[in-house]
Amino acid sequence: MIEIKKICYCDLCKKEGAKTYKTLVRFHTEQNEGRIVEPYFTLTSIELCEKCAEKAIIINGEGAQGNNRFWLNNRYDEKEAKGKK
Ligand SMILES: [Zn+2]
Repeated sequence: MIEIKKICYCDLCKKEGAKTYKTLVRFHTEQNEGRIVEPYFTLTSIELCEKCAEKAIIINGEGAQGNNRFWLNNRYDEKEAKGKK
């Protein structure tokens, strides 16, 4: 991860005092209109506190036009698994 200096709120836990990183995020939507697509990895700017940066292995994302939401669990994977039963 490349650290970019700036103080802001964590995109995952919303705590103050996060820093901006450029890192790989697994996105679940395409970036123009926010339609759900097959998940893909893309280099993204994201604000993270130190705790979340430490535990971030796979960060998930969705959104469009730079207005994105991020999370660490497998919400879409769980939904897909339930649908198949
Ligand atoms: Zn955090």
